[in-house]
Amino acid sequence: MFEKILIANRGEIALRVIRACKEMGIKSVAVHSVADADAMHVRMADESVCIGPNPSSQSYLSIPAIISACEITGAQAIHPGYGFLSENANFVQVLEDHGIAFIGPTAEHIRIMGDKITAKDTMKRLGVPCVPGSDGGVPDVDEARRVAGEIGYPVIIKATAGGGGRGMKVAKSADELEIAFRTARSEAKAAFGNDEVYIEKYLQRPRHIEIQVFGDGKGKAVHLGERDCSLQRRHQKVFEEAPGPVIDEATRARIGKTCADAVAAINYIGAGTIEFLYEDGEFYFIEMNTRLQVEHPVTEAIFRVDLVREQIRVAAGLPMSFRQEDLKVQGHAIEVRINAEKIPEFAPRPGKITQFHAPGGLGVRIDSALYDGYTIPPYYDSLIGKLIVHGRDRDEALARLKRALAELIIDGQGVETTIPLFHRLLEEKDIQAGDYSIHWLEKWLAAAFA
Ligand code: ADP
Repeated sequence: MFEKILIANRGEIALRVIRACKEMGIKSVAVHSVADADAMHVRMADESVCIGPNPSSQSYLSIPAIISACEITGAQAIHPGYGFLSENANFVQVLEDHGIAFIGPTAEHIRIMGDKITAKDTMKRLGVPCVPGSDGGVPDVDEARRVAGEIGYPVIIKATAGGGGRGMKVAKSADELEIAFRTARSEAKAAFGNDEVYIEKYLQRPRHIEIQVFGDGKGKAVHLGERDCSLQRRHQKVFEEAPGPVIDEATRARIGKTCADAVAAINYIGAGTIEFLYEDGEFYFIEMNTRLQVEHPVTEAIFRVDLVREQIRVAAGLPMSFRQEDLKVQGHAIEVRINAEKIPEFAPRPGKITQFHAPGGLGVRIDSALYDGYTIPPYYDSLIGKLIVHGRDRDEALARLKRALAELIIDGQGVETTIPLFHRLLEEKDIQAGDYSIHWLEKWLAAAFA
């Protein structure tokens, strides 16, 4: 087992990994930018290294700075968290060359899944159902028109290198195709430096259902059921639950096995998420994330496993500590993402925290790096915490979420949060009934704040 792990991240996810390290008796190293010198992850780790100035391009994304921090501290492995360098194949390659273990999949797996066309081709070959669309990249408007005509409107044009919901445009009819195509392309070029796009049928009222998979890198893999992450704004998740309100046990077992078999076939190692759109009883693959997800705690709650501990174990060459037959869904879990944002615009509102009170009690988990007197820096993602509740069933989880949200206090100078949004959402019949698609939240926001 590793003696010392460096966490190449910040905020709540850095804390999450440090906590797993402590429980496993592993020393942890935090890295931080200048602005994060007083951050909780720095305080909680055994050691810390300042790796650069505030912009993430010069700190959390600086491969040379992170490698140096490893060499100075003697860390044998790196946990990347999510975001930043977690899906950077080049980073993984450089670590390999330096003899530092990466707690995650191989550079090759990241490369395959990071290119959405290659990912889709691979999944199709492995028997995973995909959204109907172009075979590969679409070079020009004429080809786009031909493909769209074949699969039928509406269609969505997506960046091959896409991520974070950028570089996606919908064309409802042939009239809108040219503009959508050109906009998606230029957005893709600006965001990813790669303007290749592809086309898919645009599903009208799907749910976003994702399957958690886990592999040992030696041809064994399991699934840990699904998460329903349909409540989204601008393709960004805000509320996630497991199990999915519309997925029954037989469906879970079927799609779960398809996914576990697919990743076993490529000797996948560690945690991964296969994302689907789900409509009229059918699953359509959209992408695979080769890392731990923000919303992993809902899965941990219903299966009572520690996914980070498991990631560290397999990266150290140990076998997985559970088999498929050990994994039984127990109860229901919901996570809400607390962002330092003002609703309904979701404009960033960082600042100094004057009062932070975390809820407690049965079935409540809060993953947050906040503390009284902490100043949320304006340079990074606005996620400041996740509130996760677990109940015997969905109704109990909803009641617990309402109770825990009422206990949660985050006050600060100029700070606003998304907490009021969740108070309001919990009053909605559709949310109470679990009756929502990926478009529900945007429509509701437009009506509620008209
Ligand atoms: P990203 O990597 O940018 O997050 P995804 O391919 O995962 O992109 O898609 C993000 C979200 O965009 C999905 O959760 C869904 O809301 C929407 N989306 C993507 N593809 C389609 C599609 N074919 N039809 C309808 N909505 C889609």
